[in-house]
Amino acid sequence: MIQVTTPFLPPKEEFNAYIDKIWDKNWLTNNGPLLNELELELKDYLGLEHFLYVNNGTTALQLAIKALKLKGEIITTPFSFIATTSAIVWENCKPVFADIDANTYNIDPNKIEGCITDNTSAILATHVFGNPCDIEAIEAIAQKHNLRIIYDAAHCFGVKYKGKSVLEYGDISTISFHATKLYHTTEGGGIVTQSPELTHKLAKLRNFGFKTAESFDGVGINGKNSEFHSAMGLCNLKYADEILTKRKDQFKYYQLKLENLDISYQAIYKDTMYNYAYFPILFKSEEALLKAKSELELNWIYPRRYFYPSLSNLDYIEKQKTPISDDISKHILCLPLYHQLTYEEQDFICRILLRAQNN
Ligand SMILES: *Cc1c(COP(=O)(O)O)cnc(C)c1O
Repeated sequence: MIQVTTPFLPPKEEFNAYIDKIWDKNWLTNNGPLLNELELELKDYLGLEHFLYVNNGTTALQLAIKALKLKGEIITTPFSFIATTSAIVWENCKPVFADIDANTYNIDPNKIEGCITDNTSAILATHVFGNPCDIEAIEAIAQKHNLRIIYDAAHCFGVKYKGKSVLEYGDISTISFHATKLYHTTEGGGIVTQSPELTHKLAKLRNFGFKTAESFDGVGINGKNSEFHSAMGLCNLKYADEILTKRKDQFKYYQLKLENLDISYQAIYKDTMYNYAYFPILFKSEEALLKAKSELELNWIYPRRYFYPSLSNLDYIEKQKTPISDDISKHILCLPLYHQLTYEEQDFICRILLRAQNN
């Protein structure tokens, strides 16, 4: 069976060496030594000024919305993982969808201004599949209308824009280290800002609002992560370069083998150092997609329809029209892509896809 992704696991003895350290110190959570070490190493690896490690990418988004005190309407993308929208609703704000660009699959800046009302407080945009949004255009709109910017950079481990980490843009960027992501810590997430004050505030929000052991500075939640997750993160970080390099090879190999498949690819934004985290392909019709998917499934290969359905169709929010996102959602399929996937398996997948197209 080939799933759309399979988590990377480091050599067990390397993980065990960290587990021994946990037993030695008898410290399991609450910003322990391994967590501090991971935060420093990730900051260094990704080239970040400030970085907070939290329990997952969804909490990271909720903390970001809370820290910026967002109210009312947040303009967001309908083409993303559910957490981008649900975090907005969970924080009692209203998601307003600006449609996406048909080539980059990211929020279309030209659609944002039309969504702005007196109640708009922010833009929450996803760098879909690690492809940076039109950062300059979004910044210009935010500045003009005094809006805050949050980037859901869940897919962006290792992505650079104009020579620096894409996480360094916006008021806050969040990332996910879930087991299915390119780099993972089992569960986990991160928050990045340029502001030391905001980082400080987020650190308090992450820890129940504790100011000292006996006093609180506002309401907070438990966004902390454990020493065990940090241990997985520290082990996996040693393989991050290898994973990124291999991922690019695998991505290019698919493209080479699928030359004769009638599909198109996401347009990657200029000045980007991309991470090749996913392999999304856009079919000409939903019919062709469904045929390809069922042929793959007959062979125990399970691609995923990322992202389907378009979030503008969720039944717990007001219906909003986003025809481009609806259309892309129906035509897009992510093929299996993960570190252990072999070229032989890729060959097998490609043969099935070509056969499905040609009969
Ligand atoms: C994975 C993901 C999240 C959520 O991250 P978790 O760590 O699973 O909570 C949020 N947004 C996007 C775009 C994602 O892909």
